[in-house]
Amino acid sequence: MASNIQPRETYDTLIEAVTTLVKSDLQPIVGEIDQQGRYPEDFLRKLGSIGGYAAALPADLGGLELGLAAQVDVITTVGGACGSTAFLVWCQSACVRYLLASDNTAVRARFLDAVSRGDLLAGTGMSNAVKHLAGIENIHIKARREGDGYVVTGALPWVSNLGEDHIAVVAASVEDGGYVMFAVQCNAEGVTLRPCPEFAALEGTQTLNLRLKDVQIPANAVLAHPHQFKDYIARIKPAFVLAQLGIGFGIMDGSLQTIRESNVTTAHVNQFLDDQEDELQRSVTALKSHACRLAELADADKATALEVLRLRLATSELTLRAANAAVLHAGAKGFLMRHPAQRRLREAVFVAIVTPALKHLRKEIHALEQAQASTQTPETHPQQVSPARKTRDPQEQAA
Ligand SMILES: Cc1cc2nc3c(=O)[nH]c(=O)nc-3n(C[C@H](O)[C@H](O)[C@H](O)COP(=O)(O)OP(=O)(O)OC[C@H]3O[C@@H](n4cnc5c(N)ncnc54)[C@H](O)[C@@H]3O)c2cc1C
Repeated sequence: MASNIQPRETYDTLIEAVTTLVKSDLQPIVGEIDQQGRYPEDFLRKLGSIGGYAAALPADLGGLELGLAAQVDVITTVGGACGSTAFLVWCQSACVRYLLASDNTAVRARFLDAVSRGDLLAGTGMSNAVKHLAGIENIHIKARREGDGYVVTGALPWVSNLGEDHIAVVAASVEDGGYVMFAVQCNAEGVTLRPCPEFAALEGTQTLNLRLKDVQIPANAVLAHPHQFKDYIARIKPAFVLAQLGIGFGIMDGSLQTIRESNVTTAHVNQFLDDQEDELQRSVTALKSHACRLAELADADKATALEVLRLRLATSELTLRAANAAVLHAGAKGFLMRHPAQRRLREAVFVAIVTPALKHLRKEIHALEQAQASTQTPETHPQQVSPARKTRDPQEQAA
């Protein structure tokens, strides 16, 4: 794309191109992705060729320099058709963000261009490390230093967007202290990919069991060494979490579409359901504008963890509500395997279980609120903070 195009025009051009590609290359195969586990590799590569992973990348690195909000909108546009593929777009763009944020120029030089163009497909196996840092589970990958690099061993049960010629980004605990984050080539010696048991949704995400046995990680595959890790994770986590909102927003947009279509014929009885289109639409619009504001703050490294986690929680909750409302509005039609409403309901559950899962978010929010409360005096904050819990008002929850 020409560099003299104004950002607004670049944004419109990008979203129009993504919308067109979704219609021509993704919409026709959504049933196969969901029912037969087809991995939409051609779509993912074409999306890369039109800048679908480079929205937030600076222009001097070959990106569109539109910011994280535009990347969320790309994921939303894909998610309107297929939540499963929106997750793959998140995986790929998260890896672009990891590479961009790394202080190690050698790893950027090696992978950033190919990953941002979709020439090299990439999975992010970071759930275990993110859960480990939140005190939920033990770390599964161990590393020991060897020269400038590391030797790593361990296994991750589920990593999506993997394949023989892909890379996976993973973190490990280091024998002599701290953590290292790195990219590993899936065809490297000591790497094994195994199929997972069948999933209830997301079968088309090429989610595999990743095993590493004494795998050599050279210095030019390291994203963050132990002395860089703490700052690095703090830098990448807001964008990691915020970009996932696009998966939820896409599912919500699709669910609202089903609700509107159903109301053409059955509004006289649908009006007795708990969640109505106008109220859901208002809530979705409020979450999207909050996401846009927080994404701009994240671009400037100014987004606060608590606000980001609350917005992600509110998005998980509203995605579940919207998808549930769509199935109920559609009635028996929505129960047919060919109808998108039941597929979106399964995809919406995934938004609430993928790391950070809804329960994980409530745990982290609770811990942050407790820490905040303990720094305030009894006069300014007289009451105990209770655990984050479900609220009917997503705007209140996200605020
Ligand atoms: C289709 C699909 C795709 C996925 N893709 C990816 C991906 O691309 N990348 C990625 O990193 N992850 C991926 N995941 C994983 C996902 O992000 C979540 O981490 C996972 O779904 C949450 O797992 P869980 O609910 O079982 O764990 P949780 O219930 O959240 O965690 C519980 C943890 O505690 C441990 N535990 C259980 N009992 C105890 C006990 N008594 N004491 C101490 N510990 C205990 C468990 O072993 C588990 O590790 C994917 C998952 C699915 C289903």
